[in-house]
Amino acid sequence: QAKKEGRNVLRFFDPQMQETIAKRTALEGDLRKAIENHQFQLHYQIQVDESRHPFGAEALIRWFHPEHGMVSPDQFIPLAEESDLILPIGYWVLETACARIQRWQHDAKTSGFVLSVNVSAKQFRQTDFVNQVQSLIQQYEINPSLLKLELTESMLLDNIEDTIATMSALKELGVKFSLDDFGTGYSSLQYLKRLPLDQLKIDQSFVRDIAVDASDRAIVRTIIAMAHSLDLDVIAEGVETEEQQKHLSSKGCKNFQGYLFGKPVPIEQFETSLRKSLFQPADSCHE
Ligand code: C2E
Ligand code: MG
Ligand code: MG
Ligand code: MG
Repeated sequence: QAKKEGRNVLRFFDPQMQETIAKRTALEGDLRKAIENHQFQLHYQIQVDESRHPFGAEALIRWFHPEHGMVSPDQFIPLAEESDLILPIGYWVLETACARIQRWQHDAKTSGFVLSVNVSAKQFRQTDFVNQVQSLIQQYEINPSLLKLELTESMLLDNIEDTIATMSALKELGVKFSLDDFGTGYSSLQYLKRLPLDQLKIDQSFVRDIAVDASDRAIVRTIIAMAHSLDLDVIAEGVETEEQQKHLSSKGCKNFQGYLFGKPVPIEQFETSLRKSLFQPADSCHE
């Protein structure tokens, strides 16, 4: 009967698709209430230098759904971006991160710790984004250079003049920038040199097979050369093995993040591991 009405109608009755849509709508409804119901948490993943000294962390959001358990950000962040829910969620992430920096900067063990925070395209494009960041820095009285915003190539190239204006205003406040998932986008040196970046983050897709794939090694070497010529730091993400770290080190990478050093974990666990590792003999020789 639907067939008479044409192809589009037929597609609409596809039960598989209907189920997918229903699930998404339900999830979106749940997402809408997730902040007030305190279902979000930030997890923290350690970042280390070449001697394995921790110098910072990346904050990664987790959603604890009452029925589905933990939902991965790869599942709900895209949904949040489509529905504009990313704005309140992104703000919650920033505020929670600033509150964390405030505590860290007053604790001798973490006083120089830099916290990296992922920022979504829509969040970054809000007309009052710079004001939001500025107010949070003031409200929590944090040293702005301890806050590092992770941006991606695709969101920056979208409107390069606006991007430069927003980044410059944030830079003036003192915050740092890292270019996340670097190498998966299309940015040229031409564009990159105009952006006030501090760090390139080598995407984990190049790290995964670095020990066995010569072209991944060549890409990593190129990224590091680019970073040096632009006077930027480099960090590799997704480092899982000693072998991967060795390859990265031999190409000149000095900062690392990945399961080899620690998975993203809740704050209590993060601070416990940090306390332990700082008291290990291997770490007692730092300046
Ligand atoms: P990302 O920012 O590139 O984060 C790195 C992802 O790699 C994280 O996944 C992290 O848990 C994972 N990872 C870290 N080390 C390893 C490793 O050694 N091996 C492997 N296989 N994976 C590793 P996660 O936490 O699931 O986050 C996925 C993505 O969701 C993030 O990618 C980021 O794009 C987005 N995201 C996470 N938190 C936030 C947030 O607060 N705001 C926004 N806008 N996006 C977020
Ligand atoms: Mg990131
Ligand atoms: Mg990344
Ligand atoms: Mg990613």
